[in-house]
Amino acid sequence: MSTGQEPENKNLAYYCKRFANLGVNKQKGSKAPHKPILLLSIIDLIAQGIINENQIYVSDNLLKTFEKYWNVLVASDLWEKGLYYPFIRMKTDGFWHITPKSGFKGSEPKTTNKLKEAVEYASLDSELFNLLQEPHYRAELIDTLIAAWFSSNRDDIGDILQVNQDFENVAQAETEISGLAGNIDAEPRFYLTKSAVRNAIFRKAVVHTYDYKCAFCRLKVIRNFTQNIVDGSHIKPFSKFYDNQINNGISLCKNHHWAFDQGWFAIDDNYRIIVANDLEEESPNARTMKDFHSETILLPSLDQYLPRLESLHWHRVNVFRA
Ligand SMILES: [Zn+2]
Repeated sequence: MSTGQEPENKNLAYYCKRFANLGVNKQKGSKAPHKPILLLSIIDLIAQGIINENQIYVSDNLLKTFEKYWNVLVASDLWEKGLYYPFIRMKTDGFWHITPKSGFKGSEPKTTNKLKEAVEYASLDSELFNLLQEPHYRAELIDTLIAAWFSSNRDDIGDILQVNQDFENVAQAETEISGLAGNIDAEPRFYLTKSAVRNAIFRKAVVHTYDYKCAFCRLKVIRNFTQNIVDGSHIKPFSKFYDNQINNGISLCKNHHWAFDQGWFAIDDNYRIIVANDLEEESPNARTMKDFHSETILLPSLDQYLPRLESLHWHRVNVFRA
């Protein structure tokens, strides 16, 4: 063991850990969502290029985005919405720095206007700001926030997904409208609508429903609560059907997710595995895929989350190649 304090490497893993362990207030067992929502809003605006330098102002864009995420992700009315709650407090989390206006006494502003009077801007650690320029790192950090703060218990998942599905419908309607109007400047676009939030919530909800196990082979490997070996996979592809309901999902390890998407196996109406008969396999240390033929997949404990038969049927007809 080395002695003394070694500086921590401020890489993606470091910030995933920070994001999963934000210091927040608790009420009736529920954790205050303000900080994770502030971070999601900032990531969104960086992705859109609206925040393009490391000076984060209390702008109308930030206020609007914060409100949108709040409305989508916070189902309970336990918490009072307000950007002024987390904006200064987040400096205790180590990566967020406040540049106050002269004359700011340090007492917490209780309204948005007071916040604007108190703060020039905030900035992130430069290491974090640099990471957030990369789509792949943004996706990881968003996943971490969603996993740590918005899919923590089974009862919430249906609500969150329902909200997410409604959100998706609204987002699509908005896209159609703005497409017709042909006006790209009308509203700030909402980057995470279509990709990251939808996918993050869906994936986390589905894998949580299957207890982080592969429905095909039961493999379960977790690291640090934020990484696991299984994916929440769509049965009918999202790109065609826009169906983010949990019963259009199934939890599969990386291998079996890929094999499912290629049509190497399918699932029948009794949830039994059908494996294509032309696979050539060698698997000295684990069971072959063919060995699982006609076994029942792992099923979620709640009936409402069972894979929808109509989705499984669609996959057998359109993807599976016997
Ligand atoms: Zn598997």
